[in-house]
Amino acid sequence: MVMLACDIPIPKKIKLAVRSYESQKTIIKLNGIEIGGDQVVIMAGPCSVESREQVLEAAIVVKEAGAQILRGGAFKPRTLPYSFQGLGEEGLKLLAEARDETGLPIVTEVMDPSEVELVETYADILQIGTRNMQNFPLLKSVGRADKPVMLKRGMSATINEWLGCAEYILAEGNHDVIMCERGIRTFEQITRNTVDISAVPILHMISHLPVIIDPSHGTGTRSLVGPLAKAGIAAGADGIMVEVHPHPDEALCDGAQSLSPEEFKFFMNDIKPIISAVNRRL
Ligand code: PEP
Ligand code: MN
Repeated sequence: MVMLACDIPIPKKIKLAVRSYESQKTIIKLNGIEIGGDQVVIMAGPCSVESREQVLEAAIVVKEAGAQILRGGAFKPRTLPYSFQGLGEEGLKLLAEARDETGLPIVTEVMDPSEVELVETYADILQIGTRNMQNFPLLKSVGRADKPVMLKRGMSATINEWLGCAEYILAEGNHDVIMCERGIRTFEQITRNTVDISAVPILHMISHLPVIIDPSHGTGTRSLVGPLAKAGIAAGADGIMVEVHPHPDEALCDGAQSLSPEEFKFFMNDIKPIISAVNRRL
């Protein structure tokens, strides 16, 4: 894939995450999927793993509609301690069962350095959430892990700060890092966050790492997920992360931004012309 000509200043102190270190785009190979290659990779599933029925149903629905990776949180970073915190290891086991059932690899969040070893035994991709982007002990710990890491952008982080965090992971020897733009805080209140579409071409100019867009957390609103996913793909995103729940109105977390099975099927068809228009494939 051709990389964009760069007229953006490259941060001088960042060594491994920048294009001058790797002239070719990093392609992460997983189960026949190529993240950062010609494919636009779709990661879909519920915000949180809630029960066996819920996660298996979600996994089957997203697989049938054409997603390549199953997402789902077992360790949940919630704003309040009273909210559902996730099923922990039980949730990881259910994700593994869903993987056995569908063949879909799993991306799931790890929140604490002491839990990396546990999460790594179940996950195919380790997710670092927005709230932990600058948890440096956690970054070092996943940097020593054997699995690819998806690093979500801190909700108040600049692109260079975000790249500095990718550098922490790369510097520990883990070269499989995926950058995920999930929206940043701005003065706008209609959306939960503001999806910074410019992060996609900027990262592709500065860095060799794959870039994913998460329009679910980026907008907080179901009806905006499709439009922002299409904008992200048009801007060159290597994939999309999208929340899907068998019954969004009953979701224990993030129901308002989760697509129903029907909506996800529509979504998958709706993004196809944009994927073809940018000479990519599903
Ligand atoms: C998530 O993807 O489950 C999540 C909690 O997202 P974020 O860290 O972007 O809020
Ligand atoms: Mn969520």
